Amino acid sequence: MSVGILGAGQLGRMLAQAGISLGLDCVFLDPAEAPCAAVLGKHLRAEFDDLAALDALASQSEAVTLEFENVPVASLEHLAGQATLRPGAKSLACAQDRGEEKALFDSLGIATPDYRLVATEAELATAVEAVGLPAVLKTRRFGYDGKGQSVLRSADDVAAAWQAVGGQPSILEAFVPFRREVSMVAVRAADGDMRFYPLAENVHRDGILHTSTPRTGDPLTEAAEAAARAVAESLEHVGVLAFEFFDRDGELVANEIAPRVHNSGHWTQDGAVCSQFENHMRAVIGLPLGDTRQIAPCMMINIIGQAVPVPALAAIPGACVHSYAKAPRPGRKVGHVNLVTAAADELTQSSARVHALLT
Ligand code: AMP
Repeated sequence: MSVGILGAGQLGRMLAQAGISLGLDCVFLDPAEAPCAAVLGKHLRAEFDDLAALDALASQSEAVTLEFENVPVASLEHLAGQATLRPGAKSLACAQDRGEEKALFDSLGIATPDYRLVATEAELATAVEAVGLPAVLKTRRFGYDGKGQSVLRSADDVAAAWQAVGGQPSILEAFVPFRREVSMVAVRAADGDMRFYPLAENVHRDGILHTSTPRTGDPLTEAAEAAARAVAESLEHVGVLAFEFFDRDGELVANEIAPRVHNSGHWTQDGAVCSQFENHMRAVIGLPLGDTRQIAPCMMINIIGQAVPVPALAAIPGACVHSYAKAPRPGRKVGHVNLVTAAADELTQSSARVHALLT
């Protein structure tokens, strides 16, 4: 059986690794010359809106999924007519527009930071008065890892912030003085069955995820599961869905969703019974979902902008090394380490050794 994957970056690579274990072949569509997943399957090199390439992908796959969030919705609609597409265009359309995403959260009664949609600099000035300061201005579309964002601390920052987002349709959010950032990685099957991984606690650096640590039994688990269920059901989502939240004094405040496997779920490769990648592929091809339980104390540490020091990492107790075989560039994710240990204090010792290797 063959699965088509839109995008062939590291998420596609890890989906294919899980797919291979299930006996699947993968076909990737990606415009890059040698994306890092291409070593694990057939690579159709084309833009995401190339209709002939989308037709070729559909004809070579029993089911099609995605690892990249900014595939044009029209391409998914084109594919939906000729292949089993999981997740569908509805999930992607919502996640691609922060305005639509917030409207969905509002309609489901999921708390968000106070926000206003803005289309002009004058609207931004009015929104600053309504939302208060500090506030974060984000482009509605094509933002990720803190890109397309600007923090406003005073009314004098309006013009600079508007320029920083390129004068694009944007959303102004009140800055949440969060206690921590957490995420819920959930998976939904075509028959509606849902499984949830333990809530993960996430630490960002410069707007990019740095570490994720699963917190089985976290008091916010139930609320996060309820929000993820409501969103997944409303979008009729099939596959993994990740939901990022702020913990504001013990109350969950929604930040954003990703309609795909997520960096904050990478720990599941070594620290859960069935990984997010395997569960996503199971959902895509209609297999029963796997067990999402955490099996040991664990955490994930990203390797960003430097070569993956594989031998040094391999010498650290409990370290499972995942290199994406990508050339390092500033801010680029090139790998991660999952630490899985028998006891929590060993996790602390091993993570200190990993951090010492990171620049
Ligand atoms: P995002 O691309 O929306 O996930 O934002 C990237 C990071 O910026 C988040 O993980 C937070 O650390 C920070 N951030 C985004 N929005 C807010 C907010 N409204 N209040 C406080 N911090 C935020």
